[in-house]
Amino acid sequence: MSGEANRRRLVIAGTGIAGLTAGIYAARANNDPLVLEGDEPGGQLTLTTDVENYPGFPEGIGGPDLINNMKAQAKRFGAEVRNGVVETVEAGDPIQIELTNGETLFADAFIAASGASARTLGIPGEDELMGYGVSTCATCDGAFFRGEDMLVIGGGDAAMEEANFLTKFADTVYIAHRRENFRAEDYWVDRIMEKVDEGDVELLRNTEATEIHGTQADGVDHVSLVRHPDGHPTEKLDAGRSEDVERFELDVGAVFLAIGHTPNTSYLEATGVELDEAGYVQTEGGTGGGQTRTGVDGIFGAGDVVDYHYQQAVTAAGMGCKAALDADEYLESIEPVGEAGVETAQTDD
Ligand code: NAP
Repeated sequence: MSGEANRRRLVIAGTGIAGLTAGIYAARANNDPLVLEGDEPGGQLTLTTDVENYPGFPEGIGGPDLINNMKAQAKRFGAEVRNGVVETVEAGDPIQIELTNGETLFADAFIAASGASARTLGIPGEDELMGYGVSTCATCDGAFFRGEDMLVIGGGDAAMEEANFLTKFADTVYIAHRRENFRAEDYWVDRIMEKVDEGDVELLRNTEATEIHGTQADGVDHVSLVRHPDGHPTEKLDAGRSEDVERFELDVGAVFLAIGHTPNTSYLEATGVELDEAGYVQTEGGTGGGQTRTGVDGIFGAGDVVDYHYQQAVTAAGMGCKAALDADEYLESIEPVGEAGVETAQTDD
């Protein structure tokens, strides 16, 4: 059978922190991992500059450096890391993994660690200034803009949580939300309203950003915004009602996008792995072993495909480690190392 040439003991989708940590542990457990690098090599950490809260680096470390170190560490123990975007996964024995380049892989176990992509607005200035004052992670980057005015865009829990966090550093935190009412839970809205009363936060309701101005050398200078009393002002602009729309500029030193994340899990849809409404993988969780197991034999989830809450590099690393250990236990249960015949290029027919 020609597919045996692509038969692996373990395939890991994703070269972010979770996937690479899983790769390190799986390689050390002799599970011959193939770690697939998708469209966003290195994951979200490569969108940030310095990582100052990853334990073990008292002076901080560049996001891309941290990823490159982890990749080298995984390879040192025998993990294979190569390009490959997963298109579909089919559960079974073996698990069948189709890549977008037409290649088919077969694996005894599969770890989904393909992360979540922060949503962006698609407005001028956003791409150019990403990492230079535009960020999708207040926890990662907030401290760099100490003493500046900052703008958070979004009206959900993440926007409120980020704005609340940023009050530690910012002079004033502005929150721009595209409609009147916030999506966030009352708990977060109440906390933010306290900050409004204290003068730390200013709300810009029914407001959307249309352009971010600045340079990579000097960072963000100011943001162009539009406002309409009925909300969704850019829709009004698109509908040709520009006379109704108020335009204004806001001087801020940083812009934090908190308009949601999309977990990269659509390739799991046909597997029977349970996904929630937003596409996050449902794992066993709880305490004890098997926390990263999905309901489908041999398929595990780690990092931002599972976690919409903590979303930290160090928590993703922890989950990647757990997934590799859970996968090892599973692989041992179906075929202990030594009996598996894990050569990657064997043909048996
Ligand atoms: P979310 O709940 O989907 O909220 C996204 C926000 O961004 C919404 O207010 C949305 O506006 C706005 N938005 C989306 N696209 C936009 C666009 N193109 N332009 C302007 N605004 C846009 O996402 P999230 O806040 O990241 O939360 C995701 C999940 O994590 C949720 O389940 C949340 O409860 C959870 N979470 C929980 C906590 C916690 O502490 N409990 C913290 C963070 C996240 P509309 O409201 O108009 O749609």
